[in-house]
Amino acid sequence: MYTNFEELRENCLGCKKCGLYETRRNVVVGVGNPKAKVMFIGEGPGENEDLQGEPFVGRGGKLLDKMLNAVDLDRNKNIYIANIVKCRPPKNRDPKPEEQEQCIDWLRNQVKLIKPKIIVCLGRISAQKLIKDDLRITREHGMFFKKGNFLMMPMFHPAAILRNPNQKPDAFADFLKLQEKIKEICPETYEQ
Ligand code: URA
Repeated sequence: MYTNFEELRENCLGCKKCGLYETRRNVVVGVGNPKAKVMFIGEGPGENEDLQGEPFVGRGGKLLDKMLNAVDLDRNKNIYIANIVKCRPPKNRDPKPEEQEQCIDWLRNQVKLIKPKIIVCLGRISAQKLIKDDLRITREHGMFFKKGNFLMMPMFHPAAILRNPNQKPDAFADFLKLQEKIKEICPETYEQ
């Protein structure tokens, strides 16, 4: 466990715990405010993220930023964004269970340092890993699950919304629900 964010980042950048290090171009540690009360957790870097070293910077990322901004959230200001795995799985395949298992201590360490009140899981892989392994995203998106000290909410993955634009109104409704909950339990988010 690293007690300092910079130390964590530096060590994470050199990680070789699983085979994904062999094909990665950058480790995508995370982006945002380490004092944020709201964390978003995706699945793993895609090609653009691997090239730029930042989560959600492709087309899905642009959509995510738009939805975030609609409820006054900003990746460079009042939230933190990370992924279940920090290195790109080749050809954008799903990260394997053993890769997720080997990587998750980095995320656990990030969560311990950030101490968010709310964790939003973007997509099935993240929601099943962090909330419950039989979670059905189509049925349970937008619901809050209390887990330890956190409230966790599964949301549609931005890439899924791009593939299936008729999910947009539901996705947006989830962001409004999130905004209400933030105002209720961590209003300081809107002063960061
Ligand atoms: N998809 C994810 O789940 N995470 C990213 O960082 C980019 C795309």
